[in-house]
Amino acid sequence: MTFKELGLVEPVLRALKDEGYSNPTPIQEKAIPILLREKDLLGVAQTGTGKTAAFGIPILHHLYKAGRQQGKRKIKALVVTPTRELAIQIGESFTAYGKYTGLRNTVIFGGVKQGKQVNVLRNGIDILIATPGRLLDLMNQGFISLHDIEYAVLDEADQMLDMGFIHDIKKIIAKLPQKRQSLFFSATMPKTIVELSRKILGDFEQVTI
Ligand code: AMP
Repeated sequence: MTFKELGLVEPVLRALKDEGYSNPTPIQEKAIPILLREKDLLGVAQTGTGKTAAFGIPILHHLYKAGRQQGKRKIKALVVTPTRELAIQIGESFTAYGKYTGLRNTVIFGGVKQGKQVNVLRNGIDILIATPGRLLDLMNQGFISLHDIEYAVLDEADQMLDMGFIHDIKKIIAKLPQKRQSLFFSATMPKTIVELSRKILGDFEQVTI
């Protein structure tokens, strides 16, 4: 299986070629077709499997195909992840895979002043990668609206639970529009995580790696 055979748009294929990716990893081969069919996804997979590209590539594909709307950019895809390091890595992946799409992403996390993050948000972005606390904080201050989200990704859900983010996550989920595609990733599936996945996912398909 090649990326081309998955039916991805040309700018994304070109970027993957630049990255030196010749073939999809197992999670990408399973997850990308499900996501291109606009189904919700439960991914049981660890970091290192290529899961960032498994969700990033279909999001870039869909947003590129949908085309650029008039006026200010609105946040259409949200990725929530537990740590600053993961958030930065995910942002770098979106930048790399999306470099020919014209789509913009930014990363927000706590522990630093919010000024620069707020300025980037004000200029308009398509894809937001965030840690839960700073996301809620900026939402509460009115700098972020989840009103136009079409793609919502919860990454490393079990780690978010371990770090005590469950209440923040529930508050974030409550603000998402009903009509959306949801993606839920966790390395393990204890009972609380299964329950949380049910809160975010609609009719979903599961991929386990
Ligand atoms: P992740 O599991 O998303 O943290 O990805 C792990 C590593 O695999 C990252 O360094 C990616 O750049 C790399 N990677 C992801 N997809 C592919 C692919 N299809 N071919 C080669 N490397 C990849």
